[in-house]
Amino acid sequence: MKVKFYGTRGSVPVSSPDKVLYGGNTTCVRIYSECLPAGLTLAIDAGSGFVPLSWDALAEGNLEEIIILFTHYHYDHTQGLFLAPPIFMKHLKLKLCGPVDQGIGPKQMLHELMRPPYFPVHHREVESHITYKDFEFPKTMVIVFHAQGGYRIMTIESYERVLAHDSMLPIGREKFHVSECLIITMHKSRHPEQTVSYRIEEKTTNATFVFLTDHENEDGLPRSFRNHLMGADLLVMDAQYSREKYEKFTSGFGHGTPDYCVRVAEDVGVKKLGLTHHDPASTDADIADIMKEAEETRKKSDLEVFACHDYLEIDL
Ligand SMILES: [Zn+2]
Ligand SMILES: [Zn+2]
Repeated sequence: MKVKFYGTRGSVPVSSPDKVLYGGNTTCVRIYSECLPAGLTLAIDAGSGFVPLSWDALAEGNLEEIIILFTHYHYDHTQGLFLAPPIFMKHLKLKLCGPVDQGIGPKQMLHELMRPPYFPVHHREVESHITYKDFEFPKTMVIVFHAQGGYRIMTIESYERVLAHDSMLPIGREKFHVSECLIITMHKSRHPEQTVSYRIEEKTTNATFVFLTDHENEDGLPRSFRNHLMGADLLVMDAQYSREKYEKFTSGFGHGTPDYCVRVAEDVGVKKLGLTHHDPASTDADIADIMKEAEETRKKSDLEVFACHDYLEIDL
């Protein structure tokens, strides 16, 4: 599995001479896996980083389908969707998946945001190649991918029944062993809106990636949340604010601090911790200070900590 970051900034894209090392695009991540069917691009969120992600996916020459898993629908996680080519390319399949909050799932999000006078093209003109999947109760759903079989979205009950029986998952017309699949599970994070963290396990290699952005410091994580994060090879967490800024100004905004991210990562035994959702106000020097705070908290553990930046690739 490989993870590539196309947007690591929170809230709003930025461009400034003192903000070049980490980049200025808002949240978008691409997941590469040997368990994904050829021609399928899998992304989490479509912040402004979704625009360069689309350029790359199209340049590969065999793109047939893009699946976007939304964590939630704040603008910094959706604004790239309307400005990247795939939404206008009707021969491509585009599937938008995400939680439901106040009656708004991925379909209603597109309908609300993509229409005049906010956008020159009405969603009706582009929608024929788009399908949607609501995660009404994210914790109860599982997404399964297989390189030859395609993918299937199923309930956790059905998935567990398969595990208890013979571990052969029906995908399309055939059955495939779980050990050949990419498995995605979900958990709610702590944010003002219904927001989802995705855990992605590549069963062929046992590599695990957990993406936990837009999550505010929360003492005493529930057991189900700890299990969701447990033992990941790579955990990427929201460390938008320094501890000082958080305590003085931004507590309650739904974002985290580096010391908290390190404590959680150590507690659940992850190997690598990536800090993301950088504050648009943070300069390169400020993000270096956030890294220093993380290192000071890291103490003696052998956890590897780094700050994510646009176009960074991590092999797991
Ligand atoms: Zn955000
Ligand atoms: Zn948010």
